[in-house]
Amino acid sequence: MSELQTLAASPVKIVTPPPGPAAAARIAEARAFLSPSLIHVYPLMVARASGCMVEDVDGNVFLDAQAGVAAASTGHCHPTVADAIARQARTLIHICGTDFFYPGYGELAARLGGIADGFEKAATGQASGWQTFLTNSGTEAVEAAMKLARHHTGRPNFIAFRGGFHGRSYGSLSLTASKSKYRRHFGPLLPGVFHAPYGDATFIEKELFKRTVSPDDVAAIVVEPVLGEGGYVVPNPSFLEKLRALCDTHGILLVFDEVQSGMGRTGRMLAAEHFGVVPDIFTLAKGLASGMPLGALLARKRVMTWPAGSHGSTCGGNPVCIASALATLDLLESTLVASSERVGQVLKARLTEKLMGQPQVEEVRGLGLMIGVEFNSAAEAARVAQACFRRGLLVLECGDKAIRLSPPLVITEPQAEEAASIFTAVTTDAS
Ligand code: PMP
Repeated sequence: MSELQTLAASPVKIVTPPPGPAAAARIAEARAFLSPSLIHVYPLMVARASGCMVEDVDGNVFLDAQAGVAAASTGHCHPTVADAIARQARTLIHICGTDFFYPGYGELAARLGGIADGFEKAATGQASGWQTFLTNSGTEAVEAAMKLARHHTGRPNFIAFRGGFHGRSYGSLSLTASKSKYRRHFGPLLPGVFHAPYGDATFIEKELFKRTVSPDDVAAIVVEPVLGEGGYVVPNPSFLEKLRALCDTHGILLVFDEVQSGMGRTGRMLAAEHFGVVPDIFTLAKGLASGMPLGALLARKRVMTWPAGSHGSTCGGNPVCIASALATLDLLESTLVASSERVGQVLKARLTEKLMGQPQVEEVRGLGLMIGVEFNSAAEAARVAQACFRRGLLVLECGDKAIRLSPPLVITEPQAEEAASIFTAVTTDAS
């Protein structure tokens, strides 16, 4: 067994309370040079990672139930993905997909288009044909969606949702409404963005369209089909159906931001598949290339009406990231989407069994391996996240008082059981 395979099979192992001496020293050294805007949720200094296991510089081994913010979809350093990256890095690292052709860009676009077509056919009996623009990140995919929506419709405004997170660049930040700290001191943001409560399509019709924005001035409604950073909230299916109907009635484009919920995270390749609602545009990133920087704007052909030169990116769709995405798609399609559904059910069931009835836990919810646990206070969620870290489980907070579990999709049932037991022990141990 290679060293990395050994790490992937390792149990959680805390040899020195984190941060140990090496981590503490390196964090202290680095801090002076780092932007203070970086969050650093807990003092984890990672040396290497494999599968679902992460080793810090002191030799502590953690079970990763956050996957680098839901991006390491195939697990850390999956050998197939790592080989594809290495092979591509020896062949072509960069040439610029905006100005030139190379095979991977078309291949990935065709595969993503096939996924969207397959879903659309299953949901509606029709396949529009979909086209792809590749970016370096989720926020850029959202920017591209906003630009395309304005360009295609000739309309200026957007509707987004309270609790939504769409990125931190100016367009996407103007949609983001999960926490005011993301917006604080950055205004003025993009004009013409109207927010509705997440889950409430009636508000758009009865309030926004009636009082603040005429529907024929709206380019797009942008929504996460499952709320990510805002709390891992699964909406009632009728919410997305109503949004689709509103868009159809008023010639508005429907954008599903699946940067977090896409690529198998919810136990389906796209979260939209749970609801049978087909948008006009998808945005993807995070798990798309197993954590390599790649995002995608996927739109129906008839919407992709912007001409040559109207949008581009120097490194977006970089060949190495594409090689990673193609290998990732192979793994997702062959086993990992199914495994996300199966192991996700085990993890959610175990957390529900063990936690519901605990006074500090209000809800366990989610789809596939996108699972949220709602606590009764922000302080309790923060305490649990920090204590999980010290016990060897990596989780992140989300929403106002929740914790998200979004492990790599390669997580096994025994690892899911281990994650649930550490999480439960920490939650029920109020010390
Ligand atoms: N959209 C959603 C739904 C996200 O969760 C995120 C990141 N958390 C983004 C967009 C922004 O992605 P990135 O950080 O890659 O720019």
